[in-house]
Amino acid sequence: MLADGDRESVDAGITDSGNIHSSLFYNIYWSLLEDCGCERMSAFVKAFRLYLEQVSLDESEPVLGLTRAWTLIRFFESGMMQLSACTSCGGHFVAHAHSPDQDFVCGICQPPSRAGKTRKKRQEERAATPRTPVSLNEPDSMTGRGLVARGM
Ligand SMILES: [Zn+2]
Repeated sequence: MLADGDRESVDAGITDSGNIHSSLFYNIYWSLLEDCGCERMSAFVKAFRLYLEQVSLDESEPVLGLTRAWTLIRFFESGMMQLSACTSCGGHFVAHAHSPDQDFVCGICQPPSRAGKTRKKRQEERAATPRTPVSLNEPDSMTGRGLVARGM
């Protein structure tokens, strides 16, 4: 059973910079477990220290706190999260478990601002094509956001 706070941090862990930091941390943790045969707790502590070092080298703020890092590992252990391989750079990134990842592209290769452009382009394509009944194959048309984007 998860509290609302936990649910929020799942989402925080997979969005934008939160995702990149979660992924960075979890990749370090995972390689410590696999390569050094570290015990879970010491791998966690080492991974968190390495994560902070990495972040300070990049001169950015650590997004992931100790509590959230631990929560992240518990999500992986309970099967709620998975690592998806980016089809563009091949890096592994934190994603919700069972999310389709055949054409997964990470937040670095595809910044969030690109999504807006893609939607606009799709809108233009729609405007250019003759009027057809709403396609049920278009997943966008099923969401509120899709309707708004189409001016409905
Ligand atoms: Zn990528």
